[in-house]
Amino acid sequence: MSSTNVKRTQADFIPLSEPLLAGNEWEYVRECLDTGWVSTAGSFVGRFEHDLAKRVSVAHAVAMVNGTSALHIALLAAGVKPDDLVIVNDLTFIAPANAIRYAGAWPLFIDADPDTWQIDTEQLARLLEEECELRGETLLHVPTGRRIAALLPVHILGGVCDADRLTELASAFKLPLIEDATECLGATYKGQPAGTHGLIGCYSFNGNKIITTGGGGMLATHDSEINSLARYLSTQAKDDAVEYRHEQLGYNYRMPNVLAAIGTAQLEQLDKQIEARRAVEARYHEAFADVEGITLRKETEGSVSNGWLTTVLFDEERFGKSSREVMAALEGEQIQTRPLWTPLHQTVHRKWTHGSFPIAERLQRQALSLPSSSTLTPEQQERIIELILSYGN
Ligand SMILES: *Cc1c(COP(=O)(O)O)cnc(C)c1O
Repeated sequence: MSSTNVKRTQADFIPLSEPLLAGNEWEYVRECLDTGWVSTAGSFVGRFEHDLAKRVSVAHAVAMVNGTSALHIALLAAGVKPDDLVIVNDLTFIAPANAIRYAGAWPLFIDADPDTWQIDTEQLARLLEEECELRGETLLHVPTGRRIAALLPVHILGGVCDADRLTELASAFKLPLIEDATECLGATYKGQPAGTHGLIGCYSFNGNKIITTGGGGMLATHDSEINSLARYLSTQAKDDAVEYRHEQLGYNYRMPNVLAAIGTAQLEQLDKQIEARRAVEARYHEAFADVEGITLRKETEGSVSNGWLTTVLFDEERFGKSSREVMAALEGEQIQTRPLWTPLHQTVHRKWTHGSFPIAERLQRQALSLPSSSTLTPEQQERIIELILSYGN
């Protein structure tokens, strides 16, 4: 019996999102331990990179210790410099904004689209057209006098941004497009995997993501120079491995072989994970589609989500309970739910924030993510749905 099964039969607790380690994880990890190849030099690192690159149809993938370090290296490799600006969603997990600061640059936030909750490409287009000036290859943000160095849209909750519009704007304004695809591995836009529309895409294998290595990340690119640079920067920028000569500031960000072994096994199960999570999402959507005061997230046209998390909005007036009241009531039933992130303009990154973000603020008040694991049983899900419906008017 796997440890997951033991854990689940011992408690009634239903988590928001839990990993499923039901494939070749033990076998591959055992191989690492038996052969002594546990560090970054082992063969599973290359195999995991190869398999992931193949899965999302890119030429190169570089395995990192986590998704945040993949984003940091992506920004450096794309040429982001201290005091530049990087455009990013206001409503997202904080990791991409932190990575922008690690590169010495500053985040420039864009509000959320009211329907898809992804980055609002209309507001983005207005910002680029009305507040920016192209001077040769440099895009100047006139109000701050700073250079905008990259466009970093985050695909949130397993869904996908409007990738056509983003690539169009990125090319018109000469910005490298870096996709934070950490939540949406396996999702697609017009048939093409999310994370592969721009210069670089970043994935995460944190414990709460759709597949996990415990902690881990991947930088994916079609560009061979970016690939070399990412490998160089993430292995302490080694110019001479024998004499230990280093001419640039590097980082120790490469994924160890043991974790890559887990990742290789997890990736084999990605399609099953997506299918299971999408089925959970479809059932929630069916149950809540016509409920007064509950709103579901819409997918960007042409996109297919990976079903990672189902998140719904509770309109307190119309439903009769706020998202936080629903969360507290479900907590009492041992059912874990979570609100969305505090909009980044209200966090440590508030200092340099321009503009207002009414949609992100409303979504954060109303949203609640529901248990979405692939291990969620139909009985558990029906119980969650019944409880939620019983809280309404
Ligand atoms: C999970 C996540 C990351 C990266 O997370 P790590 O824990 O560093 O792997 C980055 N951005 C978003 C939006 C995420 O959800």
